[in-house]
Amino acid sequence: MTDTAAKLFELYEAAPVLVALYDEFDRLRYANRSFRDTFFLDPDEMPLWSELMRRNFHLRRGTVIRQDDFEAWLISTQSRRGKIGFRALETDLWDGRWLWMTETVQGDGWMLCIASDITNLRAEERLVRQDRDTALKAAYTDDLTGIANRRYVTARIEDILRQPDPETGLYGCVAVLDLDNFKYINDRYGHQAGDIILRDLATRIIGRVRRSDCFGRFGGEEFVLVMPSTSVEEAALIVERMLAIVRLSRPLQAWNDFSYSFSAGIAAGRPGDTPTDLFGRADKALYAAKMAGRNRIHIESELQDHAAAS
Ligand code: GH3
Ligand code: MG
Ligand code: MG
Repeated sequence: MTDTAAKLFELYEAAPVLVALYDEFDRLRYANRSFRDTFFLDPDEMPLWSELMRRNFHLRRGTVIRQDDFEAWLISTQSRRGKIGFRALETDLWDGRWLWMTETVQGDGWMLCIASDITNLRAEERLVRQDRDTALKAAYTDDLTGIANRRYVTARIEDILRQPDPETGLYGCVAVLDLDNFKYINDRYGHQAGDIILRDLATRIIGRVRRSDCFGRFGGEEFVLVMPSTSVEEAALIVERMLAIVRLSRPLQAWNDFSYSFSAGIAAGRPGDTPTDLFGRADKALYAAKMAGRNRIHIESELQDHAAAS
């Protein structure tokens, strides 16, 4: 370590601001003393962010979460956490402090969090700001599944089309996932079972989405995964892994041999694309996957079958 870096770490340890670094899997890799004290971490503990939040939630300490169902909160928060380069939010702690937390995300998925105490700053307007944040969150969230909605996902498609990755020259890919024979499933098992399956898919996939990627529900039984600076080959592997996970799921308790699948179409961003262009090509590939027998993944135009029907 250089002298400057050593000095920086020394000052971080002494500073009242909270500093933390998470890797692309959202595992804590560094936290200064203030951060560790605030979130009740042992000096060498490196938990996943989700583990850290879950533990503190159940012990009623750390961040205040205004929702009784922690797992539902987690899904909803994870679907938007670290999906944009920079974000700042106001958050409060069980000990009564308010923090101004910033999240800076690098292309490789590592995230730097810095938070400072704003308890005594503009406290009068805090309720208004909180209401605004709650409304914004609702505007970006799908009610049924709690993950990002069409509006949020579309904004992420706009993000990737803005400019290609300077290193790889790639814009990235969009995958459209559509449940197979969902009308039949609803008819056979009931609409409520249909809803359970939609939530099951959202829950299973959201925990496995890379930090850089954004997964949301576009509407009905259709989901979209946005993968910045990713090749179609890599995207197909990612979606194939998701399909493998979904095939193994048995979400209906009363029918424990019931399983379901989806079909997916993948397309890569091109210069001059609008979100509608790119989504349209992914949707065309999805149609081809349906025509080829469902339960599989197709890449635009080449129409390569990447997953054998099972
Ligand atoms: P395919 O394999 O070709 O996709 O067939 P499909 O039956 O899945 O496709 P189709 O588009 O004909 O049917 C979609 C069904 O999804 C129709 C609708 O009743 C159901 N659906 C849409 N939104 C919801 C929802 O929020 N909850 C439930 N339970 N069902 C929904
Ligand atoms: Mg559909
Ligand atoms: Mg369908």
